[in-house]
Amino acid sequence: MKPVCTTCPYCGVGCGLLASGDGSIKGDPDHPSNFGRLCSKGAALGETLGLEGRLLSPQVNGAPTDWDSALDLVAGKFSAAIRDHGPDSVAFYVSGQLLSEDYYVANKLMKGFIGSANIDTNSRLCMASTVAGHKRAFGNDTVPGNYEDLDLADVIVLVGSNLAWCHPVLFQRIQAAKAERPEMKIITIDPRRTATTDGSDLHLSISPDGDAALFNSLLAEIARQGRVDQNYVDFHVNGFEQTLSAAQATDPEDTGLSADELQLFQDLWIGSEKVVTVFSQGVNQSVGGTDKVNAILNCHLATGRIGRTGMGPLSVTGQPNAMGGREVGGLANMLACHLDIENADHRKAVQEAWRSPTICTKPGLKAVDLFRACASGQIKALWIMGTNPAVSMPDADAVSQAIKTVDFSVISEVVEHTDTSVMTDVQLPATAWGEKTGTVTNSERRISQQRAFLPAPGETRPDWQIICGVARRMGWAEAFSYHSPAEIFREYAALSWQAAALGCDFDISGLSGISDANYADFQPVQWPIPSESPGADRFFGAGGFFHSDKRARMVPIKATPDILQHGNTFRLNTGRIRDQWHMMTRSGKSPRLSQHQSEPFAEIHPKDADELGLRSDELLEIKSATGRAVVRARITDRTARNTVFTPMHWSGANSAFGRVNVAITSVLDPFSGQPALKGGQVKLRRF
Ligand code: SF4
Repeated sequence: MKPVCTTCPYCGVGCGLLASGDGSIKGDPDHPSNFGRLCSKGAALGETLGLEGRLLSPQVNGAPTDWDSALDLVAGKFSAAIRDHGPDSVAFYVSGQLLSEDYYVANKLMKGFIGSANIDTNSRLCMASTVAGHKRAFGNDTVPGNYEDLDLADVIVLVGSNLAWCHPVLFQRIQAAKAERPEMKIITIDPRRTATTDGSDLHLSISPDGDAALFNSLLAEIARQGRVDQNYVDFHVNGFEQTLSAAQATDPEDTGLSADELQLFQDLWIGSEKVVTVFSQGVNQSVGGTDKVNAILNCHLATGRIGRTGMGPLSVTGQPNAMGGREVGGLANMLACHLDIENADHRKAVQEAWRSPTICTKPGLKAVDLFRACASGQIKALWIMGTNPAVSMPDADAVSQAIKTVDFSVISEVVEHTDTSVMTDVQLPATAWGEKTGTVTNSERRISQQRAFLPAPGETRPDWQIICGVARRMGWAEAFSYHSPAEIFREYAALSWQAAALGCDFDISGLSGISDANYADFQPVQWPIPSESPGADRFFGAGGFFHSDKRARMVPIKATPDILQHGNTFRLNTGRIRDQWHMMTRSGKSPRLSQHQSEPFAEIHPKDADELGLRSDELLEIKSATGRAVVRARITDRTARNTVFTPMHWSGANSAFGRVNVAITSVLDPFSGQPALKGGQVKLRRF
C-alpha cells in the first residue's frame, strides 16, 4: 500500500514523513523543510503506535459513558457557569499539539460565542516572548525568513538553543551547509556546553540572561564601526537613535564574556552580511524574554539584514503547531489570523465573519494567571485539551491544586492516565497523531498536513468534532456544523482575506476556495498565499512592516543580566533531551529512545558538587519555596558554576521524583506573560 505523506508530531521543524499503517516511517524526500532527513525521535515513531495506555471511551468520574452523555454534561456545566457567573467564569487551556482546525474552532467557541478570551495554550510556555517581540518590532507576529537562509548564510548564530538536540534536523541542515562551505561559521551562545556548542566554531558561554547585553553591545559596535545601513533605517525604521543610546549605555561586562571573545563575535557578525540569528527557548523562557528578542531584532533592523536571502532573525518554535496556534488565535491576547482583540475594527471583522452573537472585548487570562484564577475560584468550568499542565507549568503543585479546586473540569486526551487527567471530572478520548487529518505550520511559516494512516481506535474522535459537539449543545448548531477539517480550513482562509485587508500579515486567502479533493492532496506551502500561488517567500527585505506607518520599530532595551540570581541559591535551567518529547507519552513508548537517558538527572559543576559533598550518580534534591524534585547527579563542567540543568520530561507517571517544574516559581516576562522556565532559584542538597 502506498505510504501516506504526513508531518512529524514532535518539534517545530515540521519534518515531512512517509508513513504506513504497518508502522514503517521514513523521511519524505520531497518535503521542502527536511528533504527526507529525520532525527532519532522521528525515526522511532513506528515504535510508538501501540494502543497501550490510550483513553478509548468517554469517562465521567472514572466510569465509562457514551458520547452523548459526556457532551451533554460538558455543555450543561459550561452553560450553567456562564449563566450564573458570566463568560469570564470559564476557560480553555489548549495545546501546540492541536491541529490548526482544532485550535480554530476552540478559539471561535470561546472568543466569538461564549464571549470571553479565556483561552490560552501551552505555547505560552514556548514562544510567547517571540510573538510579543515580533509585534513590537514588526507590527505583527511575522517570521521574516525561512530555512533556506540557513543553507545560504555565511554566519549562523544560535542563541539560547540546543538545536542539535531540540531541533535536530535543522542542525543537520546547518552541518550539511558547512560541509559544503567550510568557511561558514557557526556561533552558539549558551551558558552551558551542549551537543550544539560541540558542533560550533565558537561557543560564547555568556552569563545567564546576558543575551540582551550581548546584542546591545553588538548594536553599539555596529554603529562604532560605521556599519549601520542608513538607507534602510531612514526609509523603514523608527527608534534608531533612542535604541542606540540605550545600547551604548550597556556595560559589556554584563555579558560575562572577555573583551576578546566579545570582539571576535562582533567582528564575525558585522563582517559578514549573510548572518542568520536563530533563537529559541533560552531567549523566550526568561523574565526578559521579549526584550532579548527585540535586542536581536534591533541588530538586524539597523543593518537591513532582514528578509533577504541568507540573512535575518529566525525564531524556532518548540511544538509542532505553535505557529498554527498563533495563526488561528490560540493565545489569550490574539484573535484569529493575527488580528488584535484590542482593535475594534479587527473585532468587528471577526464577529461579522463568524456571524457570532458576541465577541470578546479584552485579552483573556494567560496561562499562569488562568490557573491562578482557577485557584481563586473565578474559573468555575475548565477544559484542558491535549496537554498536561500539572507537570509542564511552573509551580506545578500549585497548578495541580488549582485544577482540583475548579467546580467542573474536563480534559480531551489521547492518554488514559496523566498527572492532569486523573484530577478532572470528565475525560474525552481524542484521536492521536496518525489517526486524524488537519494542518500544522512549522517555524518557517510552512503549512503542511498531518494525515491519518491508522483507523481511529475505540470511540476516539478528532478534537474539532468534540469541540463542535459541545458548541452545538450550547445552542450554536449552525456555526459549528462542520463536516470536515477542509470546511474549517476554508473558513479561516477566507477570514485571512479580511485580516490582510486590515493590514495584517497572515494571508492564506488564496486557499479559501480549496476543494475537498485539493485539501486531501494538500502540498506543503509557505504563507503568505494571497492568490492560488504563494506570495513572497520572505518579509521586509524592502520594508513593508505592519505598523500603520509601514515602518519597523527598534526598541530601546535596558540590559539586565542575571536578574534572577540572588543569595546562595542555584539557578535552575530546564530543557529537553535528545530522544524524548514533552512528558514522554509517545516517545517514552520507544525502547530505543528510552535507552538514551533512562531517568531524571541534573548536571552540576564539579566544584559545586564538592561543596555539597555530592558524588556522581548520587541523588540530589532540588528544592524551592514551591516544591522539590529528586534526580540523579551528573557531575560535569559542561554546566557553569552556581547553575544546575535538568530535563523537564519526567512526570508523576514515569518517576516519583523527577517532576522538576514543581520547583520553578511563576516569574513572568512582563510583556508576554511567558514564565521564566530557565530561571528557577533553588537550593540543592545531597539526598
Ligand atoms: Fe520530528 Fe523535529 Fe525530529 Fe523533524 S527534527 S523528525 S520534526 S522531532
